[in-house]
Amino acid sequence: MNSWINVPQNSDFSIYNLPYGVFIRDEKPTPGVAIGDSIVDLNTAAKVGVFSEIHFDDSVFESDTLNDFIACGKETWSSVRKVLTRELTSENKLYEFREKIMVDRVGAQMVLPVKVGDYTDFYSSIEHATNVGKMFRPNGDPLLPNWRHLPVGYHGRASSIVISGTPLKRPQGQTMPPNADKPVFGPSKRMDIELEMAFIIGKSTKLGEAIPIEEAEDHIFGKVIFNDWSARDLQKWEYVPLGPFLGKNFGSTISPWIVTMEALEPYRCESIKQEPEVLPYLQYSGNKNYDINLEVGLTPENDEETTICESNFKYMYWNMAQQLTHHTVNGCNVNIGDMMASGTISGKEKGSYGSMLELSWSGKEEITLKNGKTRTFIEDNDTITIRAYCEKDGKRIGFGECVGKIIA
Ligand code: CA
Repeated sequence: MNSWINVPQNSDFSIYNLPYGVFIRDEKPTPGVAIGDSIVDLNTAAKVGVFSEIHFDDSVFESDTLNDFIACGKETWSSVRKVLTRELTSENKLYEFREKIMVDRVGAQMVLPVKVGDYTDFYSSIEHATNVGKMFRPNGDPLLPNWRHLPVGYHGRASSIVISGTPLKRPQGQTMPPNADKPVFGPSKRMDIELEMAFIIGKSTKLGEAIPIEEAEDHIFGKVIFNDWSARDLQKWEYVPLGPFLGKNFGSTISPWIVTMEALEPYRCESIKQEPEVLPYLQYSGNKNYDINLEVGLTPENDEETTICESNFKYMYWNMAQQLTHHTVNGCNVNIGDMMASGTISGKEKGSYGSMLELSWSGKEEITLKNGKTRTFIEDNDTITIRAYCEKDGKRIGFGECVGKIIA
């Protein structure tokens, strides 16, 4: 398919992608769809009648977030995608009004695409869980007895989810130095990233309802890159017995464009075989994982970027359908806009570990940067850039960048 919009070679935002985001136009948050280096302003497109053939209230695009559009349901998402695909590949109404509708994407200010009511973080990569288990509990079995039987997760903090490009202050808190007999207070000395992806709930449930596994995918609108920043020294001292708290809730960064499950469909793949067999409510059929290339770059202040990790979403042991089914099996309700993060995605090889905790093996092995300097954890003014993309049969779709800088 060819669009009348110029799409650069290797662009994440090909005609096969059409991800949703919210950008600032005339000082107002405005829903849009990315194509090449441009954005389709959905509100303006609706006003000139681009979506008039679809039966939905297209004033949802007047909203500051995508929640109202997502609430229109899966059939509407699909119809809007079909209309946009046609309108971007042939000269119709969108072409006629292109001067009003199309906006420059490069340099556009992006904001959070959805209002996030609740955020849950899973822990679903077996390599990551094994690596962390070895470091945090060197004398025990790295995987706790529950790990292969349920997708372990905790409830995170939605208020501190920020859009790509937002700087975050190095958190302060309590830590217990090695061999000390009482804790100290101060800035984290072990500031880290977690390479994750998050899915966004597209269909709410009522309290008391469980989502059966065969319906779970109907409740997912799309995915973003998710950096679950982690202060390892705070985390290590505080996490027993209730799990992460201040070591995590000072900020999580997402990429601005939500890639829809429809766009990701061609990139489905098999998952790792689960052993032992999981309980019946978690058993599934078909390919439920996705082949999404992931990479993490670290850029010191005024310096060049070094790729510190290359991983893939397909390394997940628990898939999104299992996560969502497990999350609601007790009757916990979910709402449109809720975000569910995967947990750090690590592969088997050292260069595929999705956190500096693992890459530096708890600070014992230095990571060498292109400028010759080294890191074990993040220093002030370091910028972390995460990228994600799928490629197959000469087609490419991607998530753009998830960028964050740690300041003193
Ligand atoms: Ca995490």
